[in-house]
Amino acid sequence: MTDIHIRQDGHAGRITLNRPKALNALTYEMCLAIEDALWRWRDDAGVKLVLIDAEGEKAFCAGGDIAEMYATGTAGDFAYGQRFWRDEYRMNALVAEYPKPVVSFLQGFTMGGGVGVGCHGSHRVVGDTSKIAMPECGIGLVPDVGGSYLLARAPGRLGEYLGLTAERMGAGDAIHVGFADLYLPEAEWEGVKTALSASGDVTHLKTRAQTPPDAPLAAQQAQIDALFGGAQLGDVVNALRADGGEFAQSALDKLRRNAPLSMACALEIIHRLREGTPNIRKALELEYRFTSRSMEHGDFIEGIRAAIIDKDRSPKWRHDLESVPAVDMAAMLRPVTGEKLDFERQERAMKIGFIGLGNMGAPMAKNLARAGHEVIGYDMATVAVDGVWSARSASEAATDADIVVTMLPNGDILRAVAAEVIPAMKSGAVLLDCSTVDVESARAVAADAEAAGLLPLDAPVSGGIGGAAAGTLTFMVGGSEAAYKTALPLFDIMGQKAVHCGASGNGQAAKICNNMILGVTMIATCEAFALADKLGLDRQAMFDVVSTSSGYSWSMNAYCPAPGIGPQSPADNDYTPGFAAELMLKDLRLSQQAAEASDADTPLGQAATELYRTFVEDEDGKGRDFSAMLPRFEARKRG
Ligand code: NAD
Repeated sequence: MTDIHIRQDGHAGRITLNRPKALNALTYEMCLAIEDALWRWRDDAGVKLVLIDAEGEKAFCAGGDIAEMYATGTAGDFAYGQRFWRDEYRMNALVAEYPKPVVSFLQGFTMGGGVGVGCHGSHRVVGDTSKIAMPECGIGLVPDVGGSYLLARAPGRLGEYLGLTAERMGAGDAIHVGFADLYLPEAEWEGVKTALSASGDVTHLKTRAQTPPDAPLAAQQAQIDALFGGAQLGDVVNALRADGGEFAQSALDKLRRNAPLSMACALEIIHRLREGTPNIRKALELEYRFTSRSMEHGDFIEGIRAAIIDKDRSPKWRHDLESVPAVDMAAMLRPVTGEKLDFERQERAMKIGFIGLGNMGAPMAKNLARAGHEVIGYDMATVAVDGVWSARSASEAATDADIVVTMLPNGDILRAVAAEVIPAMKSGAVLLDCSTVDVESARAVAADAEAAGLLPLDAPVSGGIGGAAAGTLTFMVGGSEAAYKTALPLFDIMGQKAVHCGASGNGQAAKICNNMILGVTMIATCEAFALADKLGLDRQAMFDVVSTSSGYSWSMNAYCPAPGIGPQSPADNDYTPGFAAELMLKDLRLSQQAAEASDADTPLGQAATELYRTFVEDEDGKGRDFSAMLPRFEARKRG
C-alpha cells in the first residue's frame, strides 16, 4: 500500500492520494512526489492534463501530516518543519502556475494542506459531500499553502470571515468564494475521470457540470462585510460584540477558540495581499514568514498539543483575543532572515532508474526517494512504491538517469535487462547491479556497459528484506574506483556498509562465498536444534548458550530458525520467506558453478547445495524460508 499513486493514464498524468484511513493527510514525501510528477509532465507532450483525486469517501485531504513536525518541534528542531513548508509551498505554487489544465476532484474534507493541492488548479470539481475549510488559526498557524491568496480574492470580506472562523464551505459556497469551479454529482466522477484520461481534453468537463447548490455565504455577504471589515483583529471583535446578534455571537465563539496571534496575522496577510493584485507567490511568501516562526515564537506547538496530541481542546495561547500587540505581529511578519522560500525547480541530488521492484528492490527504491533523489522505477509486474515514479519500460527508467540500479532474480534476466537499458543510458552514468548473479554474467554485463561508455558496478547485498527496509544492507562491490565513488552516496542510504572488493565480478564473488557460509551454517544450526530436541535440551537454553558461545553465527543470533526463540525471524511467521529456500539454492549453485570454474574444493558447500536441492525440488521447501530446514530435520530420523 503506498500513500500516493502516481501514473500516466491515457493523456492524463494522474495523482491519487491514497491514505484514506488518515483522511489522506499529506506527508512530506507526498509533497515531493507531487512536485516531481508535475515537473516531469510539464514538458511531456503525451500528458495533456493532470488529474488529482483521492481514495476514500470521507476526504480528498484533511490537511498536512503534522506528527513529525510536532515531534521535531518539541525537541527544539525547527528546521524540519521549515523545510517541509518551503518544499510544500513550492509545490503549491507549481500547481497554481501550471501551464496545463489541472483537474481536481474534492470529495469530503478538503482542508489546509489539501487546499494547497486541490484548490489551486484550473478545474476544481466539487460534489455533495465537499467540505472545504482553512482551519489553521485553530492550531496556531495562519491559512497557508496559498490559502491566503484564495481568501484575499474572495468576494467582499468573506476571506477574512473564512480565515478567522475556519467555517466549512459546501459545494455552492466553495464555488461562490473561489475555492472551486464546477459542481458535478459524485456518482458521475469516475466516468468523467475516465473520459478526461482518454481524451486529454477538459472542454467537455464544462458541458457535464451542473448548476451548483445554493451558496449560503452569498446571502450573508452584506452582514459579513459589515462585521469583518475592520483593520485589526480588535476591530472585528468589537464589531461582533457590538452587533450581539445570533450570527455575530456564533462567529465570536469561533474566534474565541483560535489562536489570537494567528488570527491577527491572518487578517494582516489578507489585507496586504489586497493592496496590490493578489498573487500566489506573494501569499506563500507572507505565509512562510509566519509559519517558519510559528513553532519558536507562535502558538503552533501548543495548538497541535491541544488539538491532536492531548486532545484536551483547551490550548493556552500566548495572547488574549482583545490584545495582540502590534510589535508581536510585526515580529512574525517581518521578512525571513534564514533560508528563504524559493520557487525554482529544486534539482534532486541524482536521477535514479530502478529496475526490479520486488521484495528487495521496492524498499531500496523507496529509501532512495525518501532521501530526496528522483527515482524512476520499472518492474515487469505492476508495482507502486512510495515516492517512486513508475516508468513504462526499463529503457524509459534508464533514460537520462545518473545511476541505474537493477535488483533482478538471476543472471539471464540481468543480461536481458542490461541489453535493453545500456543503449538508453547516458554516457558516464553508473549501471549498478545489486542482484545476486553468477560471476560470469556480472562480468559480461560490465564489459558491455564499459564498451558503451558507462561505469558498471556489481554490488550484491546481504541483510535481507529487513535490511532493505531499514536501509542497513551490506554491499559487496566490484568495479572501478570512479564508479564506486559515484555510487557511494546511494550505498549510504540503502545500507550501513559497502566494501569495495576490487574489479568487476568481485562483488558477486564475495556474495557467493558469503552465502555459501550462510547456507552451511543455517543447516548446521537447524541440525543442532533438532539434535538438542532429541537430547531433551530446552530450545531457549540452547539459544542462550550457543548465541554467546563459539557455535554462534548470524543464522543463530540474528535469524534464529526456532520459532519464539531469539529475535523476530521468519520462523515466527510460519517460515514465510524473508529469504526463500529456492534463492538460497540459487546462491549455493552459483557458488558451486564458480568453484567448478576455478577448480576450488568446497565439500560442505557441495553438500549444502545438494541438501537445499532436495529440500526445494523433492520435498516441501519451495516457497518457504531457507530456515525451514529446522522443521525438516525435526521430522526426520537418522539414516
Ligand atoms: P523478487 O522476486 O521479489 O523481485 C524480483 C523482481 O524483478 C520482481 O518484482 C520481478 O517482477 C522483477 N523482474 C523480473 N524480470 C524482470 C524484467 N525483465 N524487467 C523488470 N523487472 C523484472 O526477488 P528479491 O527477493 O527482491 O531478490 C532480488 C535479488 O536480490 C535476487 O537476485 C536475490 O538473490 C537477491 N537477494 C535477495 C535477498 C532476500 O532476502 N530476498 C537477500 C539478498 C539478495
